[in-house]
Amino acid sequence: MERIRTPKIENVRVLDRFYHWQNRNAMESTTPSTGTLYLTPTHLIFVNPVEKRETWVLLGHIGSVDRLSMAVGGSPLQIRCKTFLSLILVIPKDRDSQELYAALLRLAQPATYEELYCFSYNPPEESFDRTSGWNIFDLQSEYQRIGVPNQHWVLSKMNQHYEVCDTYPQFLYVPSSATPKILLGSAGFRSRGRLPVLSYLYPKTNAAICRCSQPLSGFSARCEEDEEMLNCILRSTPESKTVFIIDTRPRINAMANRATGKGYETEANYVGMKVQFFSIENIHVMRSGLQKLVEVCDLKTGSEDLSLPSHSTFLSGLQATGWLKHIRSILDASLFIAEKITEGHSVLVHCSDGWDRTAQTCSLACLFLDPYYRTLHGFMALIEKEWLAFGHKFSDRAGHLRPVFGNGGVSPAITPSSAVNMVIDTSREQSPVFAQFLDCVWQLLCQKPYAFQFNERFLLVLHDHLYSCQFGTFIGNNEKERRDLKLSERTYSLWGYMKRHLNEYLNPLYDPERCRLTPLLFPDISAQQLRLWVTLYSRFEEGVHPREPLLDTVTSLIDHSSALEDHALYLERRIALLKEMLANPPHHRRNPLVTVTANGAGMSSPHGSLSSISMGSSMNWDDYPNASVIIKSVALDWKPIRYVRYCVCSTPFSQFTVKYHCWKCGDVVCRRCTDTHAPLIGLYSNKPVPVCQLCYERSRVSPIKEKNATFAEKSDKLQKSQKTEKVP
Ligand SMILES: [Zn+2]
Ligand SMILES: [Zn+2]
Repeated sequence: MERIRTPKIENVRVLDRFYHWQNRNAMESTTPSTGTLYLTPTHLIFVNPVEKRETWVLLGHIGSVDRLSMAVGGSPLQIRCKTFLSLILVIPKDRDSQELYAALLRLAQPATYEELYCFSYNPPEESFDRTSGWNIFDLQSEYQRIGVPNQHWVLSKMNQHYEVCDTYPQFLYVPSSATPKILLGSAGFRSRGRLPVLSYLYPKTNAAICRCSQPLSGFSARCEEDEEMLNCILRSTPESKTVFIIDTRPRINAMANRATGKGYETEANYVGMKVQFFSIENIHVMRSGLQKLVEVCDLKTGSEDLSLPSHSTFLSGLQATGWLKHIRSILDASLFIAEKITEGHSVLVHCSDGWDRTAQTCSLACLFLDPYYRTLHGFMALIEKEWLAFGHKFSDRAGHLRPVFGNGGVSPAITPSSAVNMVIDTSREQSPVFAQFLDCVWQLLCQKPYAFQFNERFLLVLHDHLYSCQFGTFIGNNEKERRDLKLSERTYSLWGYMKRHLNEYLNPLYDPERCRLTPLLFPDISAQQLRLWVTLYSRFEEGVHPREPLLDTVTSLIDHSSALEDHALYLERRIALLKEMLANPPHHRRNPLVTVTANGAGMSSPHGSLSSISMGSSMNWDDYPNASVIIKSVALDWKPIRYVRYCVCSTPFSQFTVKYHCWKCGDVVCRRCTDTHAPLIGLYSNKPVPVCQLCYERSRVSPIKEKNATFAEKSDKLQKSQKTEKVP
């Protein structure tokens, strides 16, 4: 990491919509927030000490930096993030502003992989280790899960050293009747050697989803092996007489490609094949669609007034972006694939190179067909297979690196003076292809919430880490490149990180039984059903979201009621125990309801004398935890998550941070503050539950006499011993 010339700038004013709304809601003045700006090698941090407000911007998330014309009080920089955060920083000195601008351009898009955040990222100790997540997926076992290899589909090792296709995985599954001559011949006739290979096999009909790139057909070229290759796919689906070739591009685009020696299959040359075109636009159209969408979401009524735009301005703006039309075209093609598969026909899907639209549609079709891919683990496996293994160009599409210009192969150094006319490069290769896939999944999640084990937050976290460069998972453009970079040895895996926080991504409405009974999930793609994913694209507009995410409230209610049920069970058992004891009085009798025991904090239950009772000797009321202590040990009321802006540790909550409850005091706290789990005396299960730091610290004062035995075990023992006592 390089040295930064302007690490700290005082008296910076920040303008953002989120801030505006917070103030408006609080009926405070709408003067901009003033504070100190820090630039670290990985983050831009704005600290307002008066409001205790911190804004952290990961440099990898910065999508554009623009110098606006001089304003009162300084020189403004507008920062727009790939996560849709947009803010304006007003820097008092123009020189500082220029230096910051150049530094941000340099750091947000470094020239080499080695400079990316993932190579220096070190998670706090004890959180997770470097190997975690790198070995939980293995392509071969995923194929085994769908019953491959079998008599029709076999493993080919001809790409073991990426010699046939350097953007494909090492191991390819191909029709058993395809000879090496056919495979090599077909690879030679397909753009970048991306020959037709198996992506998914639907067990009910034995129909296969195969994927490839466009043929190098030009206006009239033919390839015997390629034609034979498609015939092999047909032979591997014995019950069907047709293979559908799904060209996801608009027909006119496919025709235009003929002029460059590429193109599409001529039906007359391919026996038993039917070519079907779809209308998914190319990466350039999608990129400009997103840029327009960002502008629409950023619309204001006026330059001074940050209020939201009028209804008609917003709707006509949204219409002009074509965004929902693009989402619909992707879902439409995917739906066609899934329908043909359930009808028993194999399909061969391609676009131009077969790594953007092909990845979108093949993975969505898999999601429609197979409920496994709608679980947390299955969804990660789907991304591993269709996106990472089959060579979606994550780094190019996300713009991780500054593109290299000229023949020298070195990006020019950026200095404050040279930076004047530079921008973060968003041209050519960048495109929200993976983000569109997540958007499509979100549409399904809204339509059929019961069918997904994961929630919206899971998709948002995936989206943000596509750009963060914090983990090695989405770095590089294909499997070979990731191996050459030794990412699994040198960086941490996003899956390892997510595994640590799975409970945050669980959908409380998931119904696995219903998925088992109705495994197919075919979405409604009518215009009325497709919506703008406001939570993603307008994430930092506080005024347009519900007060708290509905599903978080549901999850909190489920947790709360399970805490109360556990507590009620404890109380019932204790009442039963007291009745037993009254029937068989212990030696030194005292009123259990007024005695104060040593276990004042009411946590980490000693369950004192239960074991001595179980031994059948002296029973002593003194050894019992006091009733009021028990009742206080579990919070009956939980503080509502709405309106809570700060954790007790003064970490601010944003709209989308998960809010946890301390099971002991019922307060709302952040994730870091409930890292500690402890058993509570008033819970029957004796399982460790989330408690806040304060409650945890207090609990450590009290002695833990018997850590291991649970209350249930002890009261069971007691009942047994009393029974044996009764029968001398
Ligand atoms: Zn607490
Ligand atoms: Zn906290």
